[in-house]
Amino acid sequence: MIGGFLLSYKDESVAVELDDVWFGYDSEPVLQGISFKIKKGSKVAIIGENGAGKTTLLRCLIGIIRPTKGNIIINGEDSKKSSVAEIARKVGIVFQNPDYQLFSKTVSEELAFGPRNIGVPEEFIPEKVHSALEALNILKYAENSPFLLSEGERRRVAIASILTMNSIIICFDEPTLGQDSYAKTRFSELLSNLSSQGKTIIVVSHDVDFVSENIPWAIVLSRGQIKAKGPTKEILTDTKLMDECGLGTPPTVEFALHYRKFDKNFPKTIIREKEVLEYFLHQKNQK
Ligand code: ADP
Repeated sequence: MIGGFLLSYKDESVAVELDDVWFGYDSEPVLQGISFKIKKGSKVAIIGENGAGKTTLLRCLIGIIRPTKGNIIINGEDSKKSSVAEIARKVGIVFQNPDYQLFSKTVSEELAFGPRNIGVPEEFIPEKVHSALEALNILKYAENSPFLLSEGERRRVAIASILTMNSIIICFDEPTLGQDSYAKTRFSELLSNLSSQGKTIIVVSHDVDFVSENIPWAIVLSRGQIKAKGPTKEILTDTKLMDECGLGTPPTVEFALHYRKFDKNFPKTIIREKEVLEYFLHQKNQK
């Protein structure tokens, strides 16, 4: 009885679990024993220098490459037993380069492709397409060719095409690369919106500034191994770790390190601009 219970036991709170995952494109291993769990509904950043293995990790997660050793459990299911198409129903990915994803004649067709492909009944598709177009503010381009849009707009089409799939886990590979601050703010709002719908968000990035402002949990990858995982506040304020892993320090953390020389009470946990402003406002009101 107890054995049966253990055999069928699934931790319902876990969206993604990697257990000792190894992968190499040739004889050299790129991922070396990666293990972590990501809770359902959380926002997690995977950070690390170029070549650390972040994109390879995402490719393993969506099943386009398979680990040479170890297990990937998605929503309680061992992904070894699932096809790429089956994994795609649960995990959506927005690639670094939107052009890898886009192929339809119009933006609407692009957005309808995914749900149609996984067998969503035709009568539900227009509504899904419409709400994704609205969420990404691209309704006016619905009948345009995605290839005639700007890069930022194409990126939004790529994100919208993932939203129509209604995946429970959404991964973004370097989403802020080449984006201006307005686009970053819009993207941050989108992340909050997806989070409030209970989606699990995984953002691969080396934009530590964006991560410090928007993603509460972080995993640090360096040369194919996990160097740290935990609250972003703790990770990004560990300057030794950040240096060792070839990552810069976000400006707010840099500021805090210097400012603490004048004000010993300045909290170590402050890493967001908003928190710095709140601290100074609070200090001013105390006077
Ligand atoms: P990151 O996303 O952190 O920059 P990648 O996962 O892209 O890292 O790359 C990790 C390592 O794997 C690098 O050394 C890279 O050169 C190598 N690599 C990535 N893709 C391939 C591939 N298709 N074939 C062979 N080696 C690859």
